[in-house]
Amino acid sequence: MQSLRNLPSVEQILQSDLVLIYISTYGRPLVLEAIRLTLKKVRDNFSLQNNIPDQDEIIELVRIQLEVWTEPSLLPVINATGVILHTNLGRAPLSLAARRAVQSVSDNYSNLEYDLIKGKRSTRLVHAEELLKHLTGVQAALVVNNNAAAVLLVLTALARRRAVVIARSQLVEIGGGFRVPDVLKQSGARLVEIGTTNRIHIADYEQAISEMPVALVFRAHRSNFRITGFTTEPDLSEIVEVSHRANIPVIDDLGSGSFLDTAQFGLGHEPTVQESLQSGADLVCFSGDKLLGGPQAGIVIGKTEYIEKLKKHPLTRALRADKLCLAALSATLMHYLKDEAIQEIPVWKMISTPLVNLQERVQNWIVLLGQGSANHNQSTVGGGSLPDEILPTCCLALSVRNPNRFMEKLRQQNPPVISRLENDQILFDPRTVLPEQDSSLIRNIQFLLQS
Ligand SMILES: *Cc1c(COP(=O)(O)O)cnc(C)c1O
Repeated sequence: MQSLRNLPSVEQILQSDLVLIYISTYGRPLVLEAIRLTLKKVRDNFSLQNNIPDQDEIIELVRIQLEVWTEPSLLPVINATGVILHTNLGRAPLSLAARRAVQSVSDNYSNLEYDLIKGKRSTRLVHAEELLKHLTGVQAALVVNNNAAAVLLVLTALARRRAVVIARSQLVEIGGGFRVPDVLKQSGARLVEIGTTNRIHIADYEQAISEMPVALVFRAHRSNFRITGFTTEPDLSEIVEVSHRANIPVIDDLGSGSFLDTAQFGLGHEPTVQESLQSGADLVCFSGDKLLGGPQAGIVIGKTEYIEKLKKHPLTRALRADKLCLAALSATLMHYLKDEAIQEIPVWKMISTPLVNLQERVQNWIVLLGQGSANHNQSTVGGGSLPDEILPTCCLALSVRNPNRFMEKLRQQNPPVISRLENDQILFDPRTVLPEQDSSLIRNIQFLLQS
């Protein structure tokens, strides 16, 4: 007859050799907590099932509990979706040089806020700033935590309690809860909407500027949203011309902030940082981890007079970038200065990979797996840039009995594999699978095909 009196005590379990090993791995307090919780679950279960596991089984339950608690939840994954800047999958993987820079700055002390020549305190704001100035020819630059922070800072520091003119067609939600009108409200600036959803004329800008005192004119990239049909919008240079006539600065939130012309790879044209500056924008904001291909960061570049106001604002301290970000960003910017971005930055390597290379890789995967077929398909850039634009690709297509279950199991592999489903076939796009992940990908698929 089973009875709760047969249940081993905490003390008895602590005597076991296995549990001593757990203590050296996880520390005594956590192991004790796991034992107590496991025994409680066994007792609760007893009233339902009238069954008591033996001591070995209990110790195994303790081990599982400890693993559940301590398993790292943030893991590297294999992105086989074909979406290059996948926000849910961490956007841009870093270049080798950027990873090395992060490693060396995190292994050691650094001159983060120390002037090595003067031997005195300095500011972290200098890092990356020089590189951004050389790369773009701007007077000044500032790096903060992300582009949402950059936009919030610009609006707060330059337009709090004052009017900001923005076109209705740009009052978009970008994803992840970033809505241009909400950020504007948060900054304390007053939104002045002009034009209609589909058409904005330069006269709309002129009228708004003439009717009231305006702190700044804001232009936002529509990100992952496209307006087509009966539409019109003035060029940035026209907006700059009418704004500057009234001494009002123009801020351009580019979102992705590409330094290279995407059209050279058969994609549409994504506005570049250089073009915004040439059009006369006073400040340009963009992300570090979209088409720049670096770490999460928000970059503001432009005229010293405005950047200085941003630097002095107390919010800048709260939004500052950390040393790992600054190290990775500087290394990424160096690739552009050395004109090697396409060869070195993973995002650009993926965008520029020719179709034949992808076809060859898929053929190779098919040979290794002994099954599957090549499927001509489309990769996308993602990350709020180039909506509706596609890159022709070649995917591995697998037909299995229960594709949803198979994909779920793939997500539980080490490393997890994220694929997509189309017409009952599981697709793996080699464009976004880092070449060094090829063997893990094949091993994981093979394991599931055989099990
Ligand atoms: C992505 C995006 C942002 C937000 O940038 P994060 O770096 O993700 O904070 C802001 N504005 C535009 C236009 C964007 O596309």
